Amino acid sequence: MAKLRWGLVGATVIGREWMIAAIREAGGEIVAVMSTDAARGRAYAEEFGVPKAVGTLPELCSTGVEAVYIATTNERHRAETLAAADAGVHVLCEKPLATRLSDARDMVEACARAGVVLATNHHLRNGAIAGRMREIISAGGIGRPLIARIVHAGYLPEHLHRWRLHDARAGAGAILDLTVHDADLLRFILDDEPEAATAFAQNGGLAAAGIEDAALSLIRFRSGLLAQLFDGFTTRYAETGVEVHGSEGLLIARDCLSQTPRGTLALRSSAGEKMIPLNHHNYYVPGVRAFHDAIAGRGRPAATGEDGLISLAVALAAQKSADSGRSARVEA
Ligand code: NDP
Repeated sequence: MAKLRWGLVGATVIGREWMIAAIREAGGEIVAVMSTDAARGRAYAEEFGVPKAVGTLPELCSTGVEAVYIATTNERHRAETLAAADAGVHVLCEKPLATRLSDARDMVEACARAGVVLATNHHLRNGAIAGRMREIISAGGIGRPLIARIVHAGYLPEHLHRWRLHDARAGAGAILDLTVHDADLLRFILDDEPEAATAFAQNGGLAAAGIEDAALSLIRFRSGLLAQLFDGFTTRYAETGVEVHGSEGLLIARDCLSQTPRGTLALRSSAGEKMIPLNHHNYYVPGVRAFHDAIAGRGRPAATGEDGLISLAVALAAQKSADSGRSARVEA
């Protein structure tokens, strides 16, 4: 079977560290990379054996790509997705889908109108821990889920100390970077929808003035479940984790929120505490495989454009709450 022909939008760290390998492992062929910096684009293409480097999205689409992976800074996602949809090219877009909800809506609508697949690269829902948590909860393994707690904090690696800390227009800050992932993960694990957010944001001196480098948020879900999220770039010794406390049990996942598949999962109930066996695997490969399948008419992407829209809406509600000092509705 012919390999799906991909174009990379942006010569990026996430491509370098994870997505180029994931696309290839899932059976895709990367035919071109687009960068606004010609020299960087050429060097990147050479480093990863990509045949072509181009400077604009129309040029990229004219190379015959069938899908693009958009991993540019977040304010660029809308225009690039619309241009790809216009050219009949499928889109796997990074999170947050955009920096404004209206932009994300435009992206979902444009792809639907053009009949192309739009997926959001929320990798955590593809992991072994998320899958087992979802299964156990839906089977009633902890009774009624009541409270969730997420710690998605650590020290932002030095090589990422660029737009994430300094460029508000590009969607800097811990909320757009990390809270979106938490929102998507909880929606997936709980099969529940977020309704409102209350948040406090902090600048601990790492990000530029006016940009949060940590935040604590409370999210209320439709079922009544309350989730507490700690997202941040500044705490060197934090251990990531997810807890879901139910009426009959507690799921405890530790060291589980990174790009590397790892971590443990325990179930505590009247029967005592037992470790749940896990088969860890790369988070990104199943996402690309599901995207390939969706293009071929087999099922939906692991996280759709709508999923990306909702996780963005949660993050924007948290930001609005932090700015206003009041609770904010999730507007998706
Ligand atoms: P990068 O900073 O590596 O790249 C973002 C943009 O910055 C690129 O499109 C590139 O523009 C430009 N750029 C790249 N390197 C340089 C440089 N040395 N100097 C100046 N500009 C440069 O971004 P990330 O890989 O960290 O993130 C990209 C996207 O992926 C974001 O949306 C982010 O939120 C998301 N992400 C998602 C993750 C996940 O697990 N799902 C994990 C990490 C990031 P161009 O080449 O077009 O000129």
